[in-house]
Amino acid sequence: MPDSIITHSPLPGLYIVATPIGNLGDITARAAATLAAADVIAAEDTRVTAKLLSHLGLRIPMTPYHDHSDERTRGALVARMADEVVVLVSDAGTPLISDPGYKLVRDARSAGRHVTTLPGPCAAIAAITLSGLPSDRFLFAGFLPSKAKARADTIAEFAALRATLVFYESGPRLAAALGALAEGLGNRDAAVAREISKLYEQCVTGTLTELAAHYADAPPKGEIVIIVGPPGEEVPEEADDASIDAALRMAMADHTVAQAAKAVAKRYGLDRHAIYARALSLKDAG
Ligand code: SAM
Repeated sequence: MPDSIITHSPLPGLYIVATPIGNLGDITARAAATLAAADVIAAEDTRVTAKLLSHLGLRIPMTPYHDHSDERTRGALVARMADEVVVLVSDAGTPLISDPGYKLVRDARSAGRHVTTLPGPCAAIAAITLSGLPSDRFLFAGFLPSKAKARADTIAEFAALRATLVFYESGPRLAAALGALAEGLGNRDAAVAREISKLYEQCVTGTLTELAAHYADAPPKGEIVIIVGPPGEEVPEEADDASIDAALRMAMADHTVAQAAKAVAKRYGLDRHAIYARALSLKDAG
């Protein structure tokens, strides 16, 4: 038997409230009621949350909250939770998911406060549902580092995982991220989900290299989630000499010859020793 939509006036404590990721109609009835009952809303950006409150016809005191907020700010919020309703929201989606909040939850718990969550929109989950990629096992990896070496190292950590991978990304960095994913993971099936729940929602599917080529000259606008299918079903790319050499040169800029050869051989489904020899001759030729 489902609990009634809005039960009773909330107990004092911390309420983690998910908010829409684009379409304001996605606010849940319980989230709206809890925001209305809040004594204070701890918000990532109070100007962003003010728009949501105005849409709901609410005027509730707000205070800025980030994980780099000092301990005094956090301590003051935790103290208020003893006899007030403190609501935590981020700019969009589920707080704590690539957003501030975990330190506040940690401290609220260690102080013995009532902590509860109001589930709702989350771009990662919404993108998985759109992608048509296996959804039984996934790893949410947040944002990749922007520097090439750190990005490649991070991707390498995920390469052996038998799971769908989920990344948050921005338009200007999308093509480079897709190329680096192809390099580090092989040419897996993937999807780019954009502007979910908004007017121009789109989900483009293809292999990583197809998607990298698709977005190379036209960085898309808006908010983006990349979904990459699990290993084992890579589609080897058509291997012509020029693209193998270009891939090797790019990989050798950040990696040893052996690492670059291994990644490129995997990407194109070629013999690692032959590619290593080719990489050495490219390096010798300067
Ligand atoms: N906490 C949020 C959540 O639950 O999804 C995510 C916050 S994170 C700072 C913001 C990133 O989420 C964006 O850069 C984008 O990668 C992704 N995102 C947020 N809204 C989105 C949307 N409507 N469509 C696609 N991706 C979105």
